[in-house]
Amino acid sequence: MSAICYGLIHYLDKAQTKIRPEPIVAMGTNTQCTTVDYGAMSEALAAQAQKASDIPTDIFYNTQVIDIFEKEDKTFEIHCKDSSIYTANFVVVNAGAHSLFLAHRMGYGKHMGCLPMAGSFYMTNKHFLNGKVYMVQNNKLPFAALHGDPDILAKGKTRFGPTALMLPKLERFKPGTYWDFFKTLNFDFHIVKIFWDLLKDSDIRNYVFKNFLFEVPLINKGLFVQDAKKIVPSLSVDDITYAKGFGGVRPQVLDKEKEKLMLGEASINPGNGIIFNMTPSPGQHHV
Ligand SMILES: Cc1cc2nc3c(=O)[nH]c(=O)nc-3n(C[C@H](O)[C@H](O)[C@H](O)COP(=O)(O)OP(=O)(O)OC[C@H]3O[C@@H](n4cnc5c(N)ncnc54)[C@H](O)[C@@H]3O)c2cc1C
Repeated sequence: MSAICYGLIHYLDKAQTKIRPEPIVAMGTNTQCTTVDYGAMSEALAAQAQKASDIPTDIFYNTQVIDIFEKEDKTFEIHCKDSSIYTANFVVVNAGAHSLFLAHRMGYGKHMGCLPMAGSFYMTNKHFLNGKVYMVQNNKLPFAALHGDPDILAKGKTRFGPTALMLPKLERFKPGTYWDFFKTLNFDFHIVKIFWDLLKDSDIRNYVFKNFLFEVPLINKGLFVQDAKKIVPSLSVDDITYAKGFGGVRPQVLDKEKEKLMLGEASINPGNGIIFNMTPSPGQHHV
């Protein structure tokens, strides 16, 4: 990222015509793309992969994997809900929070638990921003800070969010994953200790409580707009609506051995030809 501006400035809040007291740290870029439509990119990559080789590249959509078994000849057998079975020499499981669920079923990653954190957005009807604007990250939190961006799929609208709310489901907008959540949380006294240590911190406690209120009807918009005003000071409650059907679940991984919430993505690679990836929020990449 090329920084075109970095420093300490005082910001004149036009809506309130007064100088905001807090120092504002800013950094920006105007030469690089900041937003990618990964859906369109995946379709393009799949089409190119199918064209590039004479060897057939098959894609099976809407095929839920139920179990993966390791065979004696070191291959894998993938069993699906529709009773189909596939064999593979190498398997990469990129199934969001279900990656850890499937890993646990094979006996891997038992020292980890998964805390699904749902995220929602608010949408405006008008164009408020030309590019992404992030608030400064609090390093204690595993999610990218609240940001506003012109939504590339909802043209002319600006999106603010995400919020963060613990949800007892491994996947949002899909039924029937509550029991899977409990199994993947891997609940025991280590998990209690992690929660206790997190909630002891007043920054985290306030963040959790505020984000819970962001999801409560009637009061959510008024509270959310207070935060979003830090990005667009003139924004009012009437400008935003809860974006139904937007957002998803970030699988936050809990390390039970270290008794810590893992910041950034987690991967389980037993070295035998199968990898399980969980990518909660690449906005926070900790290597
Ligand atoms: C609210 C929110 C805001 C975010 N903001 C950003 C951002 O600003 N920038 C950024 O870079 N990232 C962001 N992320 C993170 C980003 O969305 C994820 O890192 C990314 O989607 C992970 O891709 P994935 O393909 O690994 O998993 P997913 O996108 O989670 O896809 C997993 C897929 O696997 C499927 N699946 C699950 N179980 C099975 C099974 N048993 N069999 C078959 N299929 C299965 C699911 O249905 C799903 O389609 C955000 C995430 C959320 C929730």
